[in-house]
Amino acid sequence: MTTPHMDPEEFRRAGHAAVDWIADYWSTLDKRPVTSTAPPGAVAAALPTGPPEHGEPVEAIMADLDALVAPALTHWQHPGFFGYFPANTSGPSVLGDLISSGLGVQGMMWATGPACTELETVLLDWLAGLLDLPERFRSTGPGGGVIQDSASSATLVATLVAVHRASGGRWRQEGVRRRYRAYTSTQGHSSIEKAARIAGLGDGGVRPVEVDPRTLAMRPEALRAAIEADLAAGETPAIVVATVGTTSTTAVDPLPEIGAICAEYGVWLHVDAAYAGAAAVCPELRWAHAGLEHADSYCFDPHKWLLTGFDCDAFWVADSSELVEALTVMPEFLRNAATESGAVVDYRDWQVPLGRRFRALKLWFVLRWYGVAGLRAHIRSGVALAARFADRVRADERFEVVAPHPFSLVCFRLRAGDDASAALLARVNATGRAHLTHTRVGGRYTLRLAVGSPQTTEQHVDETWELLVGAADALSAEGAVPG
Ligand SMILES: *Cc1c(COP(=O)(O)O)cnc(C)c1O
Repeated sequence: MTTPHMDPEEFRRAGHAAVDWIADYWSTLDKRPVTSTAPPGAVAAALPTGPPEHGEPVEAIMADLDALVAPALTHWQHPGFFGYFPANTSGPSVLGDLISSGLGVQGMMWATGPACTELETVLLDWLAGLLDLPERFRSTGPGGGVIQDSASSATLVATLVAVHRASGGRWRQEGVRRRYRAYTSTQGHSSIEKAARIAGLGDGGVRPVEVDPRTLAMRPEALRAAIEADLAAGETPAIVVATVGTTSTTAVDPLPEIGAICAEYGVWLHVDAAYAGAAAVCPELRWAHAGLEHADSYCFDPHKWLLTGFDCDAFWVADSSELVEALTVMPEFLRNAATESGAVVDYRDWQVPLGRRFRALKLWFVLRWYGVAGLRAHIRSGVALAARFADRVRADERFEVVAPHPFSLVCFRLRAGDDASAALLARVNATGRAHLTHTRVGGRYTLRLAVGSPQTTEQHVDETWELLVGAADALSAEGAVPG
């Protein structure tokens, strides 16, 4: 009987075809509509109701990729994709990830693949150096870094260890008995609320802290007042999540003042820089990290703006022993000499799942292939393109820029109001040439243009501006916008 498996020679042949497919996809992205017009259920209806009885050649699967899948996607790597935040990938990232898949290594403990752990530790030190993060996050002291799947997981892990600390370690035996509180600005990410819910703090566990209406950054006095009020009510402040680069507008919370308050009350400070952290590869953008030396933990997503495919969140703690104490569980089947020697790091104790992929490989490929200069050029291009777009918006009196744009996100709207701005977004997105998303700033409907695709050039930004002008002209002609 023959083996049912793909042998290495067949893999080599089919693998080349798959790499060709990706290269063709990338080189034809510009010709595709950014988003799909497929109605709900169309893809599901085109698929068979079960798997084939006998295996099919890879070519048959790839034909359906072209026919069924690719046309029904939002193309996040498209040069006209300006929605949400970028979710970059790149050639070196894909190659590193492919090799990680081929190795199929589980990096849950040092002993289950020593290089998987040690490369990750070294790369997180490289990254800390590249962003000029405080010394306390380097693995040379009590601190260190780890790759989480996402910023949401980083916030969850930070919340768990913060509760561990706030309970004096009793949380492990007692569960969440007291009323622990988390604090973030009204602009904090939804993942903070989710983390608090999973950690047992309850939906009311997160205190939204007021922001300065002009900068949309957390007001330190409001944070202090919230902590004082909770203490007076017999509740236990456990964690403050400050944001560098909020999701809505990229506001930067004042870390020096927030850090001082956290130190005064003994509250864990986690800094969420999911998108904007990558900017710190450029020395001129490091101001956003001022005060980070007060943080107990920090994270950013190389999978957003640093050319590393999802999933890759870089998370650091100033003291890893608290984290390990909060999360470690040692069943007999994982006992091993290396762990017992105390000389190694077991990353399973730094995250929620046990198993973990060799994600450091794609990061290694990216950092080495681009080099520091290449990464800086990518970030600077995004910042410059956003500034170029903001200049166009400011020069047209029908529009206004509604928040500072220190990174690669521009928030803007039509002065004519919410309905006009919403109609404008719908028209531009319907062209298939660009994709923007929206938020609300000060209660008002606001368009967001976030630059980040490696393929986006001045020409794509200018073309998008022309689409916006054309749509605004059409709305004026219909009387929806004053001309
Ligand atoms: C995108 C984002 C997140 C969530 O990121 P994931 O890595 O997808 O979990 C969290 N915080 C901020 C500020 C973000 O912009």
